Amino acid sequence: MSVATVSSQIRVGVIGANGRMGEESCAAIQDAEDLSLVARVGRQDSLAELVDHGAEVAVDFTHPDSVMRNVEFCMDAGIHAVVGTTGIDENRLTALRRRLGPEPASGVIIAPNFSIGALLLMRFCEAAARHYESVEVIDSHHPAKVDAPSGTATRAAELIARAREAAGVGSAPDGTKVALPGARGALVEGVPVHSLRMQGIVGRTEVVFGTQGETLTVSHDSLERSSFMPGVLAAVRAIPDRPGLTLDLDFLLDLP
Ligand code: NAD
Repeated sequence: MSVATVSSQIRVGVIGANGRMGEESCAAIQDAEDLSLVARVGRQDSLAELVDHGAEVAVDFTHPDSVMRNVEFCMDAGIHAVVGTTGIDENRLTALRRRLGPEPASGVIIAPNFSIGALLLMRFCEAAARHYESVEVIDSHHPAKVDAPSGTATRAAELIARAREAAGVGSAPDGTKVALPGARGALVEGVPVHSLRMQGIVGRTEVVFGTQGETLTVSHDSLERSSFMPGVLAAVRAIPDRPGLTLDLDFLLDLP
């Protein structure tokens, strides 16, 4: 697909354009005056469409099995990549850093959740982590979600674990001696994460902290996929000035 663009517009292609997040992204990009949607790449299409239509930035909402190949294609073609697809673990990040090299020409922004509330949840949880002995995460999503735990829950657990370690907080107390497999959740850097897959839910991340005589629950609900779009568009606008790998969107938050 090719459309006329105004020269100051950023030319954007969407990979996974026929999926739930891809469709939402295409609509949001089309509505933005400073952006131009130049390519919609579906599963049957060639990534070369991005090059053919002069995309400067690609937005990827595909599948954990596809995303690495897509991002590597973009890097090699000099196209910046804004990646919302989840399932990018430390090994994959290391591979991307290596491929980008010491003086990267293109930028890659990877965020497991583009909504402002999820970013704030992570910051609040990092701040709370050192003050509580116990912490567990509950990840609730729609039943069509292919990966568990969610990228948001995994990232929150990683950040909490690192904040606890930095503050010298030991392992959470847990006297369990007998348990069915999975009963205590999956451990992400030592933090238990429990995944619910439930009709009627878009996405909810809940972090429960506990210490002597009190608990603190920090939770975030995604009610509509439109909540991700301000973050996606902000990342598209920012990426031409951010060569290399950027994780999360904290740089967009005006927080101390
Ligand atoms: P979906 O299944 O509705 O859409 C994925 C689409 O990608 C499908 O149309 C599929 O055919 C297509 N696809 C797969 N491989 C492809 C390839 N190589 N080239 C082109 N298209 C390809 O899924 P969804 O709900 O849109 O979610 C997509 C991803 O985004 C998931 O990993 C999900 O966890 C993640 N997600 C991230 C955020 C965020 O804020 N970062 C928010 C919601 C979902």
